[in-house]
Amino acid sequence: SFRLCKLRFSLPQSYSTHFISTLVLAEHEGGSIKSSSISSVEAAKRLSKDDSVSMLLAGSGPSLQQAATHAASCHPLISQVLVADSNNLVHPLAEAWANLIKTVQKKGGYTHILAASGSFGKNVLPRAAALLDVSPITDVIDISGSHQFVRPIYAGNALSTVKYTGESPCMLTIRTPSFPVSASETRSSAAPIIQVDLSTFGEDILNKSRFVRRSSQETERPDLGNARIVVTGGRGLKSAENFKMVEKLAEKLGAAVGATRAAVDAEFVPNELQVGQTGKIVAPELYMAFGVSGAIQHLAGMRDSKVIVAVNKDADAPIFQVADYGLVGDLFEIIPELLEKLPEK
Ligand code: FAD
Repeated sequence: SFRLCKLRFSLPQSYSTHFISTLVLAEHEGGSIKSSSISSVEAAKRLSKDDSVSMLLAGSGPSLQQAATHAASCHPLISQVLVADSNNLVHPLAEAWANLIKTVQKKGGYTHILAASGSFGKNVLPRAAALLDVSPITDVIDISGSHQFVRPIYAGNALSTVKYTGESPCMLTIRTPSFPVSASETRSSAAPIIQVDLSTFGEDILNKSRFVRRSSQETERPDLGNARIVVTGGRGLKSAENFKMVEKLAEKLGAAVGATRAAVDAEFVPNELQVGQTGKIVAPELYMAFGVSGAIQHLAGMRDSKVIVAVNKDADAPIFQVADYGLVGDLFEIIPELLEKLPEK
């Protein structure tokens, strides 16, 4: 089938190295390093088991210091934590971050720079790569050597094996569900925390964009990108009011809520819940899809889930081709029945 087709191509110029030193760009929130950034360290482990990984985080104030302490103990592979403390780096503006990466790269001479393939990494890394005059490789799902990577193309319908032969550094965004952190990853002593010297930081670049505001939904539910269970609703829900059934079910299961683009476009839920090619990529242990047809662009974001359950009234819906358990039926009967039978959390 098309999905298993492998394509090979090489980027120009020859490059080889034996010593690998990696810089991982870290995101933090509430004084903790995000799990997607820890997964990027796990990916770095696949480049070389023995070499060093520096974690770079930026921001300002007590939450940055707390996050640095967390970074220093969150993974045994981290050999040092680099902290850039500046008011200009509190918000993830690509211009400021790209400049920071260039500054840190000039000093550290890293062979690899990694970031999670979320909105932060996709925004910052290509700009930093342009400043460093290299070609980034995005959405890496597998690493088979220090310069050979696998990434999906055609909305995940083919896998491309890419050999990087460009100049150093090799810059990658990582699809973090492909690099889960194993529970046994603990360390005995904390890594050193080093302040980054920002005296050469170009102020002119900082003026090119301005942070205006951030809006996000306050929720107690797990983060969609890392949840163990995701319950997704599609256009079949028919209205925002009906979509609340999906939210109730997610609450009972301790799950995150996902949505198709059709459900987002119809304004049942906000855009941040979209799963798929142009939304979030998820790979939970359990993915439940209600009223979702299974369009190729949706499958691109969830087909790696461990167990997929689909409920659709159309027996020919493509979602059943990827589902481990499929139920042909009316979601307006099935979800209330599930809500009734599932115990309270
Ligand atoms: P539909 O395809 O309309 O399916 C609704 C399903 O609900 C149907 O199968 C129907 O049988 C079922 N249904 C209806 N009523 C009931 C009922 N009472 N009980 C049970 N089942 C019922 N889509 C994404 O999801 N994510 C993306 O990131 C994304 N990116 C895109 C990028 C591009 C460039 C393009 C062109 C498209 C993208 N899309 C994306 C859109 C995608 O092609 C589909 O249009 C979309 O996924 C369809 O959403 P849906 O399954 O909710 O709706």
